[in-house]
Amino acid sequence: MTFTGTPAGSVALVGAGPGDPELLTLKAVRAIRRASVILADDLVSDGVLRFARRSARIVHVGKRGGCTSTPQAFIEKLMLAEALKGEHVVRLKGGDPFVFGRGGEEAEHLLTHGVVVEVVNGITAGLAAATSLGVGLTHREHAHGVIFVTGHARTDGTPMHWPALGAAAAQGLTLVIYMGVAGIKDIRSGLLASLPAATPAALVQNASLPTQRHAVCTLETLVTTQLAEGIGSPAIIVVGDVLRGVRRVAEQARRHLAA
Ligand code: SAH
Repeated sequence: MTFTGTPAGSVALVGAGPGDPELLTLKAVRAIRRASVILADDLVSDGVLRFARRSARIVHVGKRGGCTSTPQAFIEKLMLAEALKGEHVVRLKGGDPFVFGRGGEEAEHLLTHGVVVEVVNGITAGLAAATSLGVGLTHREHAHGVIFVTGHARTDGTPMHWPALGAAAAQGLTLVIYMGVAGIKDIRSGLLASLPAATPAALVQNASLPTQRHAVCTLETLVTTQLAEGIGSPAIIVVGDVLRGVRRVAEQARRHLAA
């Protein structure tokens, strides 16, 4: 199947950013405005969908961890079928489509069928989470790099090797963990094998949205803090010395409130 001899449809994989519509790129807004069919992940906020034409068909293809989700194969088939019909399809994904978003698989599937895909970057949740804490992930006094990592086991079933990631963090790499809430106990215990218990950590839920919540703690208190503050998915966990400044600010605020 190719576009040859078919109406000129199109497909764009578009990053919807972390939620705040003001963080969309101009390219993303243009693609959303032009779309006749939009396939939206459930992390895509209503504010972002407000840019869609009234006539656009919006299909919610959510897949929150643990919930029943639209099978990936169905999403890929639908995108292809609509494009071949001549529709302007926008596949809207939270954050950036190529950061833990299966954007690569979807683009490959379409290319295999002769459909060229435009990819539009978005601001990934890890960056928005750090900025909402006022943290530079590579603040040069504390870190010389950053690792974006999933909290889930790999697709081949191999568990994540948290002690090794902790060792990298001990060498000055900030850890930004996506999809980490479900496995937070294993993350904490694995990292404690190679990092001091007092290493700063933070959780940010719904970064950039009015519903954003966050907590700053230490690796030692990561799980108790998550439970006490009731921080659930979607959340980013940040671990590393770059959070020291934030902890100072938080502690000062606490002292100020207690005084
Ligand atoms: N492509 C997305 C990531 C998809 S994986 C991106 O680039 O951001 C889904 C995970 O992203 C969630 O489990 C959570 O860890 C994170 N996430 C997405 N949006 C978020 C938000 N607004 N606040 C905090 N975490 C978010």
